[in-house]
Amino acid sequence: MIIVKSDQEIELMREAGRVTGLILKDLEDFVKPGISTMDIDRFVEDAIRKQGMVPSFKGLYGFPASACVSVNEEVVHGIPHKKRKLKEGDIVSVDIGATYQGYVSDAARTYPVGKISDTAARLIAAAKDSFFAGMEFCRAGCRLSDISHAVQTKVESEGFSVIRDFVGHGVGQKMHEEPQIPNYGKAGRGPRLAKGMTFAIEPMICEGGYDVQTLSNDWTVVTLDGKLSAHYENTVVITDGEPELLTLAE
Ligand code: MG
Repeated sequence: MIIVKSDQEIELMREAGRVTGLILKDLEDFVKPGISTMDIDRFVEDAIRKQGMVPSFKGLYGFPASACVSVNEEVVHGIPHKKRKLKEGDIVSVDIGATYQGYVSDAARTYPVGKISDTAARLIAAAKDSFFAGMEFCRAGCRLSDISHAVQTKVESEGFSVIRDFVGHGVGQKMHEEPQIPNYGKAGRGPRLAKGMTFAIEPMICEGGYDVQTLSNDWTVVTLDGKLSAHYENTVVITDGEPELLTLAE
């Protein structure tokens, strides 16, 4: 069942999302060659706690950190480590959540580390652009898979592929609520969207093939072909009109 939120609940999610969005914005300046993935985790956790909120990922299913920090061919669930230093030309995906009064926000960006290749820059842009292609269908009355189809169409038009093994999801009092929201598939299927539904829409896309494997730490997911992956995610509210993006700071 898709849980429809009250205005009061959405107000709490809006506050959680505002903080998440600002932190992701601040990371644009913080991410640079020489810092470690653990530095990113500390930055994120400190910023969330400073706002009196709780890092949603810490301890979720046993995840050991506040941020998932995934470098280059790592798709999702990278575990921050002080010895993993970023270097010029890397790309790094950071997925975070803040919980405020029991309500969760969830968002991710992929950042360039110094100067990156044209392909890497195009991949990052395609992840973001495909999210916004999906937003065209994040409206009351649309069907859930209209979003999926729009994302896939955009990604593939750029010559990239869409991860199959991980999907977007409902979000609210729990990080992962129904429904699952694949980033691929035919349009016109699944439940109809209605005002008050709250989703984490999150294209995860690849430079090469979409097959993945999980490393022996049981968390970090990498592309099987070792090519790059990028991620872009916001927490979104379905309204009577335009979708409201809770985690996007301009
Ligand atoms: Mg998510």
